[in-house]
Amino acid sequence: MTTTLVSPADTAAVHGRQVPTGLFIDGRWRRAETTFPVLDPATGAEIAAVSDGTVDDALTALDAAVAAQSAWRHVAPRDRADLFTRAHRLLMSRADAFADVMTAESGKPLAESRAEFALSAEFFLWYTEQIAHLHGTFAPASHGGYRVITTHQPVGPALLITPWNFPMLMIARKAGAALAAGCPVIVKSAKETPLTCALFVETLSEAGFPDGVVNLVHTSSSAAVSAALMADDRLRKISFTGSTGVGATLLEQAAPGIINASMELGGDGPFIVLDDADVELAAQQAIVCKFRNAGQACVAANRIIVHSAVAQRFTDRFVELTEALTVGNGFDSGVDVGPIISARQRDSVVELVATLHGAGADLLTGGQPLPGDGYFFSPTVFRVPGRPAELCSRELFAPVATIYEVGSTAEAVAFANDTGYGLAAYVFTKDLSRALTVGERLDFGMVGINRGIMADPAAAFGGVKASGLGREGGHDAIYDYLEPKYLAVTVDEEEGLS
Ligand code: NAD
Repeated sequence: MTTTLVSPADTAAVHGRQVPTGLFIDGRWRRAETTFPVLDPATGAEIAAVSDGTVDDALTALDAAVAAQSAWRHVAPRDRADLFTRAHRLLMSRADAFADVMTAESGKPLAESRAEFALSAEFFLWYTEQIAHLHGTFAPASHGGYRVITTHQPVGPALLITPWNFPMLMIARKAGAALAAGCPVIVKSAKETPLTCALFVETLSEAGFPDGVVNLVHTSSSAAVSAALMADDRLRKISFTGSTGVGATLLEQAAPGIINASMELGGDGPFIVLDDADVELAAQQAIVCKFRNAGQACVAANRIIVHSAVAQRFTDRFVELTEALTVGNGFDSGVDVGPIISARQRDSVVELVATLHGAGADLLTGGQPLPGDGYFFSPTVFRVPGRPAELCSRELFAPVATIYEVGSTAEAVAFANDTGYGLAAYVFTKDLSRALTVGERLDFGMVGINRGIMADPAAAFGGVKASGLGREGGHDAIYDYLEPKYLAVTVDEEEGLS
């Protein structure tokens, strides 16, 4: 099945904002033969129908990226940075539209959408500033006679696959790094949240990114579309954020063609509160870390591990703060927690609560889906006795908090590390030496010390073990899209002096 060009682009009005609904390939919006619906999780109503891209569309997008790569990689750094600066300004001028569309398709409260937009724009700016500052080296060969020059070159066309939980941040930090490095991209967002991504791609195109450099393929057939791209050895990079299972499948697909891979995968964030912690601070940060985005975050507090000396005090305050949270439509003022992304995901939260009951956990508050058309669930807290095997290393991804008690710092660290995941961990203590010792012993890519939120463009975001490969943000992340290139240059010193 093929697509047809549409001019002007098909759009949908989403919360009063016009959003393109087609595929964007080689600088043009196109309409696929079929569409799939995008639902508002707060109401269950359809808010747009977007073009459903096929394998042929994806391969056409790859053709366009391949054709664009030679010119794009040779754009002078300053010119590329100027283009990024224009795009950043245009993004900033559309902040309200992005926030509205994000809340409409993901359900997150408007304040969270605005914060996500601001952080996404910061990431984009971070990479803008890096473009003209990439480094290389020059050195004499160890036995003389020639010189060793190391520079970097773009890896090549990149497939960027993102999840639904942070519709803007995930694509802005991937595309920012890839494009800054000189790689053309094919973007595939989650089918639950394609609209924010469409606005992002539209903005880049209007800023003047050349045809074929940024391509967008929505699809309801992710597995088939990405398998076809991964099997084509013109694709040189896969950057994926999503579940560990799909990440592992993509790594298998990357193996035959030795495709460069970056993976941001699942997490099982331990949130440790030691006996000398500021309990009020810990409880407040745990609320943000657990219930932001209705608990649907890879870095969310997954197991709250509290020293017995402060367990009762922490738990009482945490439950009190949980019960004060307002659940509702993300567009309503005063709402803290929006809906779960889909009916399917909401049903998985119901199943999780049943598992917790079955494991003998004590329900302290919540535990029920809320009535109505949207996919709402009450913020829930369980106290979990023992270490039930069915909950170990299980990513909750829900507005459900689980509190475990430990008797010592060493036990807290051992329990925290007892997981296949290794993304984010948290430790609360007033003792700096303890904080550093525990932080260094936690087998995680990131550790928040006395804070429950830590994403920042200046920081290397990513995990170890089953949580991923590579980092997004920080000084080195752009090199995930660049390969070192070594040039050996013969130097005849006698000739040079003649
Ligand atoms: P998911 O793995 O189901 O989907 C992620 C993306 O992959 C979507 O675009 C989906 O359409 C696509 N996809 C699904 N199957 C595919 C396949 N076989 N081949 C290629 N693409 C495929 O994950 P999700 O449910 O959308 O997101 C939740 C997961 O993402 C959680 O595990 C969460 O921890 C993880 N996540 C990780 C980070 C991080 O930075 N480490 C950030 C956000 C989310």
